[in-house]
Amino acid sequence: MITVLFAALPDRWAEYEEPLRRALDDTGLAYDLVTEAAPETVDYIVYAPNSKVQDFRPYTKAKAVLNLWAGVENVVKNDTLTVPLARMVDEEGLTQGMVEWVTGHVLRHHLGMDAHIVNPDHDWVPKAAPLAFDRPVTILGLGVLGAACGQMLARLGFPVTGWSRSEKRIDGIRCLHGDDGLAEALTGAQILVLLLPNTPATESVVNADRLALLAPGAAIINPGRGPLIDDDALLAALDSGQIGHATLDVFRVEPLPQDHPFWAHPNVTVTPHIASETRPDSASRVVAENIRRGEANEPFVHLVDRAAGY
Ligand code: NDP
Repeated sequence: MITVLFAALPDRWAEYEEPLRRALDDTGLAYDLVTEAAPETVDYIVYAPNSKVQDFRPYTKAKAVLNLWAGVENVVKNDTLTVPLARMVDEEGLTQGMVEWVTGHVLRHHLGMDAHIVNPDHDWVPKAAPLAFDRPVTILGLGVLGAACGQMLARLGFPVTGWSRSEKRIDGIRCLHGDDGLAEALTGAQILVLLLPNTPATESVVNADRLALLAPGAAIINPGRGPLIDDDALLAALDSGQIGHATLDVFRVEPLPQDHPFWAHPNVTVTPHIASETRPDSASRVVAENIRRGEANEPFVHLVDRAAGY
């Protein structure tokens, strides 16, 4: 019998209990799924970084911590965690949601939808958007989410360039990497999507110098993490017109404080960290598969590189 501790905010238990039980039943393992347990009895911790479990030292028997979120910045530096840490990778749920959100917001800017949705003076300006082929899109971050979004946009016809830490080959995407690749990826992009993790190396990667490389009037879409952007540099670029619009889902402080200039800026769209969320059904299957692996002495999947921070 293994003990699986669900360590997330208590209000999430109602939506996760049944899906987790179904997924664990499917593994054929004998298990006890609990929200409270003597730490030394726990085999696996299904985890959200905002849970009350912050000191892992008493969990002496734990074989892995299985994060329900894709982002791990709030747990990756926890020195009390010495067992493998897996993050959420879920094509059916989290990835699908992000592809839908990014595609929708890219199309909003590409098609100039706002001009017709909000048109109080009833202006009749019959100017069609260019085709996608003439709208270069760049995605910073070519991981699970960045690659999936890039491939969808490429299928729609956008010339997509992506940037990552390591060298990559992905069908339909011009892949660049490293410091030299960044300037090339940004130069002339009309729509920039940020899907990098929050690490010391990605802090303020979008700064004044890099904003200046984009095509004048470019749109920025950030479903990655708030610290990727130097907020003051973005506000200055919005005011000068170098950036035409910013759609921001994530912020350095969340909820975004009411007095933050992003709320009032006419060319900023704020969404409340909803680009994509972990879906209990499909995420539970991902978690259960890692538990099955652990019990079968097979390697865990979706492990975090603790040194790299993601
Ligand atoms: P991955 O770990 O799969 O991908 C991260 C990508 O970023 C990789 O391509 C990686 O490069 C690249 N990268 C990391 N550090 C650097 C660096 N210093 N320089 C260049 N490239 C770098 O993550 P996911 O795609 O699953 O998720 C990305 C982020 O999306 C998450 O960390 C989270 O912050 C955010 N997110 C936001 C959500 C929301 O609702 N707003 C929901 C889910 C996730 P390489 O491939 O070489 O390793």
